[in-house]
Amino acid sequence: MDHSLPPETRLVESELCAIFGLGRTRLRQVLQRLAHERVVTLMRNRGATVAKPSIAEARDVFAARRVIESNLVETFIKSATRKDMKQLHEHLAREEDAWRNHDRRAMIKLSGEFHLLLAEAAGNSILLQLLRDLVSRSSLIIAAYQAPGAAPCPPDAHRHLTASLERRERGAIKLMVHHLQHVFDDLMLEDLKAVLGNRQ
Ligand SMILES: [Zn+2]
Repeated sequence: MDHSLPPETRLVESELCAIFGLGRTRLRQVLQRLAHERVVTLMRNRGATVAKPSIAEARDVFAARRVIESNLVETFIKSATRKDMKQLHEHLAREEDAWRNHDRRAMIKLSGEFHLLLAEAAGNSILLQLLRDLVSRSSLIIAAYQAPGAAPCPPDAHRHLTASLERRERGAIKLMVHHLQHVFDDLMLEDLKAVLGNRQ
């Protein structure tokens, strides 16, 4: 989630067992589960690595997020409480701190959590679970395809979105869609664009 292990990092079982104080059987169950969530790749006889999402997967993950998060924003506008709004503002302040301190790891982690916080407030546990998986995978996608030094979700995008949510504007749905599209477009390297250009 915070890019401390980049895509394709080898995960050595004995080291992980030592770090987490787990037996091999338990560790393998955990790796299986992470593989199921597509954040780890298991290869026969070659152990586990941090997954590197493909270009097609990157496109599909962000397309799915646009659908799910439009719906979550719509629900949020209708049902958010004052406490939900307060939590969003508190979260924004943490993001802005991380931004000011150039704490890239915290920025990446917090930017994903902003989206999850909104989903939690919207109150659909199924969509929340789906989004959790998609946000983890987005973090790997950003690690794999973002230009070096580029920002994850810029905090001003979240600030504009929060302001619009506070006013309960339906325009917030469009802002969210544009925001996710923007994050995806920023990933696009030239060769990536060429590949997708041929398919669309
Ligand atoms: Zn964002």
